Amino acid sequence: PAKAAWNFAAGPARLPDAVLARAGAALFERGADGAAAIERPFTGAGFREVLADARQRLAALLGVPDHYRVLFLAGGAMHQFSMLPMNLLDPASGLRRVAYADSGYWSRRAMQEAARYAEVAVVARHAGALPLTAPPLDDWQVPPDCAYCHITANETVDGIAYPAWPNTGAVPLVADATSCFLSAPLDVSKFGLIYASAQKNIGPSGLTVVIVREDLLRRPALAAPSALCYRLQAAQDSCLNTPPTLAIHLAALVFDWISESGGLVAMASANRRKADLLYSAIDSSQGFYTAPVAHGHRSTTNVRFHLADERLTEVFLTDAAAAGLHHLRGHRQVGGLRASLYNAMPDAGVAALVDFMAEFARGHG
Ligand code: PMP
Repeated sequence: PAKAAWNFAAGPARLPDAVLARAGAALFERGADGAAAIERPFTGAGFREVLADARQRLAALLGVPDHYRVLFLAGGAMHQFSMLPMNLLDPASGLRRVAYADSGYWSRRAMQEAARYAEVAVVARHAGALPLTAPPLDDWQVPPDCAYCHITANETVDGIAYPAWPNTGAVPLVADATSCFLSAPLDVSKFGLIYASAQKNIGPSGLTVVIVREDLLRRPALAAPSALCYRLQAAQDSCLNTPPTLAIHLAALVFDWISESGGLVAMASANRRKADLLYSAIDSSQGFYTAPVAHGHRSTTNVRFHLADERLTEVFLTDAAAAGLHHLRGHRQVGGLRASLYNAMPDAGVAALVDFMAEFARGHG
């Protein structure tokens, strides 16, 4: 039999085996209407049922309260970096600025985009010194003229995750949950808006899920193009223009798989177990491998580590690929190594990585 190969990419990432097995027939076989899912019009009953099903299943998984709307939008999380200020600023009502917490790479990208539309108040920063941590959670002074306060719940590049959510008072908390979405239960009611692009735990790229509290849809969003307007997309059930139909269909299969597998509580415990296995291999390597992020702030989905002897990094990557362990290179901004362990990564993949790491350490220690 072919040797197992494991994909540890940060995204697009591995899909659940059961979803891949079902996707061929579900997406590419023609039905009674003469169309396969990939060919079906977005205006027809066939697609609308898939969309309604995807929305309802996602809402059930997360326990989305009734006064929130779930949108399935085209584009990536980066589109949201601009859509947030375009939709939520409301200078006529005194909401002239936006607040951001700096937790690493993606939060800085998010605030750079927002700065094109409004003044950015940075309300919290991570120290940046080793071991790395999320920004401290106490005493966020969010100015009341801020339209929202943005956090990056899990920093995909830095491997940092918030241990708890900040209190932003009356200013709605907005989260980029791209790389932790559906990895564990999430209390939606703590947020004004949550967004996540799909290519980690939802499915294919090209789709972004937005969960938005209804009162935020009343902001005027005068300068937002129609297709990028939350209110107009919500009013048209995410079908103001052609949505990414294939990606939504595949996402619905992933939501099914999560519920069949025990829901978000089961995802969280499996993710905890996988992350613990890898972090303890790093921590018990007597310094051969090091994790730069502090306990309590370590991402369970994006595990960052370094070789004490950085010159071995390329050798490690080459040997790992030869052993069937792929896409372990850290992001170019931070270097080193990164293993992304999303929901679809089974224990066996992590076990193979941990075994390889022990063997590599023996060979080079
Ligand atoms: N935010 C986070 C936390 C991410 O991990 C990514 C992608 N890795 C993005 C934003 C950008 O997402 P996209 O490529 O879907 O625009």
